[in-house]
Amino acid sequence: RVAPMTGIAGMKGGSELYMLTFRDQSESRRMDRMRSDFIANASHELRTPLASLFGFIETMRGPAREDAEARDRFLGIMHEQASRMTRLVDDLLSLSRLELKAHVMPTDNVDLVPLINHISDSLKPLAEELGVGIQISAPDQPVVVTGDRDELVQVFENLIENACKYGQSGGQVRVSVMPSGENDGDGVEVSVSDNGPGIPREHVPRLTERFYRVNVEASRSKKGTGLGLAIVKHILTRHRARLIVHSTVGKGSDFRVKFGAPQR
Ligand code: ADP
Repeated sequence: RVAPMTGIAGMKGGSELYMLTFRDQSESRRMDRMRSDFIANASHELRTPLASLFGFIETMRGPAREDAEARDRFLGIMHEQASRMTRLVDDLLSLSRLELKAHVMPTDNVDLVPLINHISDSLKPLAEELGVGIQISAPDQPVVVTGDRDELVQVFENLIENACKYGQSGGQVRVSVMPSGENDGDGVEVSVSDNGPGIPREHVPRLTERFYRVNVEASRSKKGTGLGLAIVKHILTRHRARLIVHSTVGKGSDFRVKFGAPQR
């Protein structure tokens, strides 16, 4: 699949100098296609709320002009559409920032125990609204990984929020922080599991693709952008950590983050 070599030859002092450039054209075509699919998807996702906003503006200028009650209702919907666009733009910006620093290794020492307790506290109002309980199990001593604190907050916020949103109403979300091997220093694992409807097997490998949703309408109604797990994947790659998903339809899902042993 390697494209023919392009050679640029020059002559200097009787000896030939060659500069060869190799390019895998099928790979670069695939990247171009991915980029243009991404732009098309992002534009479509932004256009939908925008079209709805224009529609309501026209209605408020015309038929609903004198109807205060209808105007209040429409303003509520317009506010929700504007919030949806803001969430999308924020997620797009996060992705583009992460791409820019893809090759820079984060260096903070982050204790995951207070970080996860803090996220769980901040998600309590959402969990209560959805009737979900969040249970945390973590060792008493610090569990430290090398990373970027804000990005790790984004990872676990996304996973715990998804477990609350897509899990079972009245159900339980369990978050466990644990060592990943038998020996001290083997690395760390964090599992976020729910007892919701689970994810059919064929969808699991595609969950971290940008804009991939198992159920588009359900995701929209739960204020999803379809970018959360793509952001998680980018952040974890930068942290040399892995995301492993186990899900059983009718039983629930387990999203597990595995951090490697610290580099000594
Ligand atoms: P969204 O912004 O739509 O929530 P994500 O990238 O975070 O996007 O997740 C992608 C899709 O994966 C979601 O739309 C949902 O269909 C599915 N998903 C994520 N987490 C869970 C979960 N815990 N249980 C069931 N489905 C999930």
